[in-house]
Amino acid sequence: MSGIDGLPPLREVIATHELSAKKSLGQNFLLDLNLTAKIARQAGDLSGMDVLEVGPGPGGLTRGLLAEGARKVLAIEKDTRCLPALAEIAEAYPGRLEVISGDALQVDPLAHLTPPIAICANLPYNVGTELLVRWLTPEAWPPFWTTLTLMFQREVAERIVAQPGSKAYGRLAVLAQWRAEARIVLSLPPSAFTPPPKISSAVVHLRALPEPRFPAERAVLERVVAAAFNQRRKMLRAALKGLAPDIEDRLEAAGIAPTERAEQVSLEQFCALARALA
Ligand code: SAM
Repeated sequence: MSGIDGLPPLREVIATHELSAKKSLGQNFLLDLNLTAKIARQAGDLSGMDVLEVGPGPGGLTRGLLAEGARKVLAIEKDTRCLPALAEIAEAYPGRLEVISGDALQVDPLAHLTPPIAICANLPYNVGTELLVRWLTPEAWPPFWTTLTLMFQREVAERIVAQPGSKAYGRLAVLAQWRAEARIVLSLPPSAFTPPPKISSAVVHLRALPEPRFPAERAVLERVVAAAFNQRRKMLRAALKGLAPDIEDRLEAAGIAPTERAEQVSLEQFCALARALA
C-alpha cells in the first residue's frame, strides 16, 4: 500500500534499491511512516520553515518532514545508494526537496537554506555528537537554526539534558543548556529501527535561546568545561591548575569551592568561572 504521498512503503523502497544497512555509516533505518511523522511533529510547526536533515537514508523521516508541511528540506546523505530513493521523494514533492550527496561535516547548509531553519535528523551515531557540538558552538549567537530535533542513543540524549550532581552531567549538558533549552521528547526501543541497534534511542528537542543563559566568552567556557570534565573525579583546583597559576583565587571569585568536583558545578557557576578567567 502506498503512503499519503503516493510513494511505496519503505520496506519496498529498501528492497527495490537494495539498501542493506551498513554499520560503518551508522545505518539504522526507521521504516514506520507513522513514527517518522511523529518525530517530524516534535520539531514543531514546520510550515514556513526550511529544514536541514542529515542522513536521510531511504527517506522515512524526509517524507515525514515534507508531509508535515516543511517549506523545503535540504537532505545531506553520504551513501550514494540512497540517491535514487530520495529522487523519487523529490518528484512527489516538486521543488521542496534538495538532496546533496556528500558528508554533512563538509557542507555549508546556509548556502542552500533560508531562515527560519529547523534541523531534524535521525543522526548517524558516528558523527552525531560532533555535529551537535558544532551547531551549539558557533562564535555568534543566535545561530542559523531555530530548533534542533535529533535522534541520539538514549545515553547521549541523557547527557544533553543532564543536571549537576548526576553521572551524565558533563560538557554536552553545559554546552547545550548554556545556549538552548533542551528536553527529551520521545524514547524509542531498539525494535523501532531496522536493523535494531543494541541500545535504546531518544529524540532531543533543543530551542536556541535568544542569548546565552549567562554571560561568558564561548572559547573560555569551552576550555574550562573541557578541562574540568576531562578529570571529573579530581578536585577543580587540581583539574584546572593548567588554566591559571592562581586558579584557587579564581574559583573562589566565581563562588566555587576549590575542593569541588566538576560534576557538582552548575552552569551559572561555570559561566562565572569563565568570566573570572577571561
Ligand atoms: N534518516 C534515516 C532514517 O531515519 O531511517 C536514516 C538514519 S541512519 C541512523 C543515518 C544515515 O546517515 C544513514 O543513511 C547514513 O548513510 C547517513 N550518514 C552517515 N554518515 C554521514 C555523513 N557524514 N554525512 C551525511 N550522511 C551520513
